[in-house]
Parts: sequence; structure tokens; C-alpha cells
Amino acid sequence: VRTFDVVVGGAGLAGTISALRAQELGSKTLLLDAADSAGDGSNTVLSGGIVHAAMQDPRSQSDVLLPHILQAAGSGARPDVARAFADGCAAVLLWLQERGVRFDIDARRGSPQAVFAPPRSLAQLDGWRSVGGHAALTILRARLIAAGGTVVSGQRVTDIRWRSGSGVEGVLIVPEQVTIRTPSVVLADGGFHASDDLRKRFIGPAADRVVVRGSMLSLGDGLKMAESIGAKLYNTRFFYGHCLHRDALVNEELWPMPILDDLVEAGVVVAADGAQLFETGFGGIGVANELARLPDPTSAWVVVDHATWLASARPVGWPTAHPDLERRGAMVYCAPDIRRLAEVIGAVADRLQEAWSRLMLERVAGKIASRSSPREVGPFRAIPMVPGITFTMGGPLINGQAQVLDEQERPLAGLFAAGGSAGGLQGADVTGGYVGGLAPAAVFGFIAGTGAAMRSRCIP
Ligand SMILES: Cc1cc2nc3c(=O)[nH]c(=O)nc-3n(C[C@H](O)[C@H](O)[C@H](O)COP(=O)(O)OP(=O)(O)OC[C@H]3O[C@@H](n4cnc5c(N)ncnc54)[C@H](O)[C@@H]3O)c2cc1C
Repeated sequence: VRTFDVVVGGAGLAGTISALRAQELGSKTLLLDAADSAGDGSNTVLSGGIVHAAMQDPRSQSDVLLPHILQAAGSGARPDVARAFADGCAAVLLWLQERGVRFDIDARRGSPQAVFAPPRSLAQLDGWRSVGGHAALTILRARLIAAGGTVVSGQRVTDIRWRSGSGVEGVLIVPEQVTIRTPSVVLADGGFHASDDLRKRFIGPAADRVVVRGSMLSLGDGLKMAESIGAKLYNTRFFYGHCLHRDALVNEELWPMPILDDLVEAGVVVAADGAQLFETGFGGIGVANELARLPDPTSAWVVVDHATWLASARPVGWPTAHPDLERRGAMVYCAPDIRRLAEVIGAVADRLQEAWSRLMLERVAGKIASRSSPREVGPFRAIPMVPGITFTMGGPLINGQAQVLDEQERPLAGLFAAGGSAGGLQGADVTGGYVGGLAPAAVFGFIAGTGAAMRSRCIP
């Protein structure tokens, strides 16, 4: 039986940072990854590389970040976890820079945000090698190996060896079918978004029919392992994701973008019969979550006026609904007025007209944010939707030290979780409850690596 001080399951941003941190603190560390080449199947390499904390500059002071984090997370954040995230952002960014990870600053979306350099273009999906998150992981992994750490690809962590009273004793890895002895395990598998069964169990009865717009390797092994030893599961209903054009189910050019958030936020979301589905005020992430819970998550449409449609062509640095949907072969249904649009999409004209009129009233009353004018100007467009899930926001509950907690919220000795594997920071709000992907992975990866190394020092 091989023995390590710390074993980390998953070599995305959270896991790689955990492993490097633990190794630098003197722990003999093993980083395992399910992909044939560590990290290459991860969300970290697919991502746009924008490192933000609730859309704020992550270099900001903790007291500046915390209110934004709490507001964005809604009821999703545990106070100690939110505080640890706010406290850790600037310091972990600096720690990464000191290890050679490079950042650019991008202010195109409002507040300046750090972006992994060289920046990755989300307009070229397969162009992730040597840029963005991939560049960062490559640097950190090289550091880990140079510091004496071990990286093994093509192996999944699937079981925890656990003794009540003393805690973690090891893990089983497959397909090698080997037990590794260790007192400290960090779960960093990215979440459970790629598991049809777990999406159906936690998100909605037909959530196996949503589009996975992230890594296909995050199958919830971490959640299952934690659950098997009594971890409390937290906010597992919620995911970070966006509404996509329904054709994304069959047309690869529509994966994982353009997203329809601008349209959803300024237009009206209706069922197949034209009836309004949700109150206005749901953000794009919130609507994606609600659609995923429907008996048929592919049944909804978003209806917008001409001004909203044109306004969606914003210079954000990635494909936008207009003009990229049509450029990529997606069907956008158009008619000069709402009643004729109902005919085109097979909806009931009175219902669609009622849904649209209600939106107009709310716009005029200033109840909804809209980038377009409150006047009703055609032509009108209807776009069929499917929710796309990027990563799950819930999972085994952690505390501010990234320790996984049991049902009584006591630490499960030796078990840590970070990034998409961990619950406790986000989810649970109609606006989405999203505070970030890369920054939480970095901060809690660092905290978990620290805690895992400390524990291994105390266990002979
Ligand atoms: C298209 C896209 C764009 C995005 N853009 C942004 C952005 O600009 N900003 C932002 O903040 N977030 C963004 N995100 C989200 C962000 O990428 C993730 O939140 C973040 O990368 C999560 O890091 P992680 O380490 O938790 O998981 P991942 O990076 O997914 O890493 C998980 C790793 O675990 C491995 N694994 C899985 N199961 C096992 C197992 N049992 N044993 C061992 N290894 C296992 C996988 O192979 C993978 O390498 C984006 C995501 C996508 C898909």
C-alpha cells in the first residue's frame, strides 16, 4: 500500500492549488486526475479565465467584497464560508502571481476583473491549449512536480477509507484498484453536473435532458464519497449555468455559447402554449435553474422585441445571441406582431399577448431592468430554449476552513472539499446565487491544501 500525507482528487484549479500548497508546506502529496492528461478535461481549461468575486475585482479588500458576495449568493452562503472567500481572494491571487501565474486586467464587463493570461477567446472553443486556465494549470503543475509532488493521470478517486473516531485513512483509486493510505483527502472533482443520475436526483425529474455546458468528467464522485461517510449535502438543487438555444442539443456550434441571458432578463419566458412561466426578476442563471426543474426542460421560449434583440449584440468578448445564433445556424422565429408570432411558434395568441402585455406594464413601471426602450416595437422574436449547466453550486457542506461537515455540522476529520466539489458558498436565489467559479476554486483550494497539510503533520 502506498502512503501519502495528502491525496487530492481532481487536477483543475482547486485541486492543483491544493496539492501545490500542501506540498510546499512539506506534505508528501499525490494529485490524481480522471483525464488521460491531468486537468485537460476540466472546467478550468474550458473557462473564459475571468477571475472575479461576485463580479467584483478580486484584488479588492475583504470588506469591499463581502457585501457583494453576500448579496449575489442570496441565502446560499454560509457566513463563515463567505467571509473566508472574501478574506482569501486578494492574497491567493498574489500567491498565484508569485508562482508564475500571469493575469491581465479586463474591464469590459464593468468592474475590472483579473483574467488568466494569455487570455483565452471563447469564440474559439477548442483553442484552450497554452492560454487561460490551461496556461495557469501548466505552470502550477510544473511547480508541484519540481517541489517533489506526484501527479497521476487517468485515475479516479472513488472511495474513502474511513474509521469512525479517527477519520480518513485512505482512498481507493480506479481503474488501478489500488488503495492509497493517507490521513488527508481533498475532494476537487468539479461537482456533479455531468452525472445524469445525480442531476435527476437533485435538480429536477427530467434534468438528465439539459445540456451540460462544462466538463464531462465531473460525475459527482466527491459528493458520493462524502455522502457515504455522513457528510451534510447543501444547496444541491442549484447550478451555475445559462439558457441556451434549444438547438444546442444537436448543433455543436451552439455549445456552450451564445447564452440567452440578455434576452431572458429583458424579455418574457413562456411555456409552449404562450403562458408566462415565471415572474420577472429572475436572472439568466435563475431561469436556467427553474427550466431544469420542469417536467420538460426543453419546452420554453423567450420572446423579445426588436430593440432587445439588437441590444444583445454587446461587445462582451464572446458570441452573443444577435448576430451569432443565426450565423451558427440556429432558428430564430420572427413576426411583425405578438399574435402572429404566437401562430408561428404554435402558441395560444391570447396567452402570449397577455404575457407580453404584462411585461410591458412592468417595463413602463420600471420594475425590470432593460437595456432597450420600454416602447413596444416589432418585429418580435421567439427563441426556443434549453437550460445549460456549467457546474453545480452545491455539494458536501464545508466550513471556512474547507473541512467537509457532517449532518451536525462537525468536521469529518481529514476530509476537505474545494471548487465545484464543495457546497456552502453559493446557490439558492432567483437571481442565481452565483459568486464565481475560478476565484472560489482558487481560494478554497488554497485553504483546503493548508488544512490537509496541517492535519497530516498531526497524524503519525
Ligand atoms: C465554458 C465555461 C466558461 C467558464 N468561464 C468562467 C469564467 O470566466 N470565470 C469563472 O470564474 N468561472 C468560469 N467557469 C467556471 C469555472 O471554470 C469553474 O468553476 C472552475 O474551473 C472549477 O474548478 P474546479 O477545480 O473546481 O473544477 P474543474 O476545473 O472542473 O476540475 C475538476 C477536475 O477533477 C477531475 N475529476 C473528476 N472526477 C474525478 C475523480 N473522481 N478523481 C480524480 N479526478 C477527478 C476532472 O478530470 C477535472 O480535471 C466557466 C466554465 C465553463 C465550462
